[in-house]
Amino acid sequence: MAETAGYSQQGTLLKFNGGVAISLIVGIAYDYPVIRVGCITGEVGLRITNKVLTDLAIWMMAFGILAGVAFPFFVLLLGISADQALAPGFFAATLSAGVAVGGLNFLIAHLVIRPRLRFLAGKMGEVSALIGNATYTGDWSSCTPENCAIKVDSEDEIGDSARAYNGLLDAFSESRHVEQAVDDFTQSLSVTLDFEELVENALTQLLIHTKAQAGAIVAEASGELEIAACRGIKEAESLLKNDHVRHVFHHGIETRLEMPEDLIVDGIVSNFKPREVCIIPVAFIDHTIAAVVLVSASGFIRDSLRIARLFRQGLGLAIQNALAHRHLQRVAALDPLTGVYNRRFGMKRLQEEFTRAVRTKGSLAVIMFDIDHFKKVNDTYGHLVGDRVIVSVCNVGQRILRKGDTFVRYGGEEFFAILPGASQEDAIEVAERIRHMMEETVVEDGKQKIVVNISAGVAVYPIQAADDEVALLDYADKKLYRAKQEGRNKVVH
Ligand code: GH3
Ligand code: MG
Ligand code: MG
Repeated sequence: MAETAGYSQQGTLLKFNGGVAISLIVGIAYDYPVIRVGCITGEVGLRITNKVLTDLAIWMMAFGILAGVAFPFFVLLLGISADQALAPGFFAATLSAGVAVGGLNFLIAHLVIRPRLRFLAGKMGEVSALIGNATYTGDWSSCTPENCAIKVDSEDEIGDSARAYNGLLDAFSESRHVEQAVDDFTQSLSVTLDFEELVENALTQLLIHTKAQAGAIVAEASGELEIAACRGIKEAESLLKNDHVRHVFHHGIETRLEMPEDLIVDGIVSNFKPREVCIIPVAFIDHTIAAVVLVSASGFIRDSLRIARLFRQGLGLAIQNALAHRHLQRVAALDPLTGVYNRRFGMKRLQEEFTRAVRTKGSLAVIMFDIDHFKKVNDTYGHLVGDRVIVSVCNVGQRILRKGDTFVRYGGEEFFAILPGASQEDAIEVAERIRHMMEETVVEDGKQKIVVNISAGVAVYPIQAADDEVALLDYADKKLYRAKQEGRNKVVH
């Protein structure tokens, strides 16, 4: 097969066979320049029937006959007499020799090429059966490139075919892995509607698959950007004002930055400036609702970002659903007038905190509030002004409470505060501060300045050995009643 070594790589199997047909016969009988002609014609593909090897046989026999016919005339040039060269016996002999060489060449080609082609076809058939089976069973363990690859043992088009087939297997396997990763990612997003859990989970997987060292998911909720999840970025809040992040939200176009100045990654040993940052928009129906910020210390490789781009399709829908869910939950939990938690949600929180206090043997304080002489406010200034007074009490309550405490509108102009872990002294102090601040809070109605007072009752578990949260709240309510009886604008415990 030395003749075929000069073939260019673009020759296909069919063209190759044509080339072999010509080169073998001519190579044996004649000289190299003719082989080149064979190569050129071979690339065109000398097809006669729909079977390449049959074509090969026909061409070899035809050239054998041609050589047999031409040989007597050729020997004339060497000085052999026409009587001898064109004698029927000699003519028949050269013709037979030509046919024999043609037949022999085909036999050799047949023995050399056909087993390789059969092997290739057999292997491909085997693998397509495996793939067909795995598609329905979901078990791809027997379809690894290692199991299915063909050994490349010839440096020619047959070797190229084996190589191309192995490449196809690798590409298929890679495609399966990516599909699996996207499936797993989408699946993991579907297990929760909880926004925080969802974005945390999504970020974890994005970091793993992109090999990023740090990252964040910035989401837009009710027109505001928020850091939904963050890993390893120092002062992540700065991302909310970052021009590149804002640009991604406005234009929905991915941005890649090399050596960004305004981002510092929280390294394990020390903080460092990343080599590359990629900000990928996440859209829901053409609107960018989030951006994934991925930070690499060494720069991203192409495929890692490509998988992140595939992930974002499922992520857009999941984030949208989780945001809608969070919004609905908030709406269901909040009092529409004041924006503080409503009674239903407040009671749920109180129950959770009571259970926790019992379990951890901790304390839990509850303060019940009621506006003094509120009917008079309504009667004098009207219900709308009364509503504004109610809002002002909630604002004061929320301003005074610490993180982790909850202010609840119990109903009408009654409120309660939940203070997990607070002692009786803490709770009395908080109640007094709210009462004082209300004394100083002025609600204006035109030229009128309205100031209201509030009364409060304090109950603290376990000082009050309440059986449940309702009993504790009831106790605080009784203290509130006493505050009213004792002249109002008072805190009673
Ligand atoms: P006290 O000092 O004993 O608490 O007297 P009070 O006048 O405040 O009496 P009460 O606590 O029973 O007042 C309830 C009033 O609150 C009755 C109702 O008109 C008013 N109210 C309840 N809900 C609302 C509301 O959403 N908006 C307004 N403007 N008023 C409300
Ligand atoms: Mg009341
Ligand atoms: Mg009242």
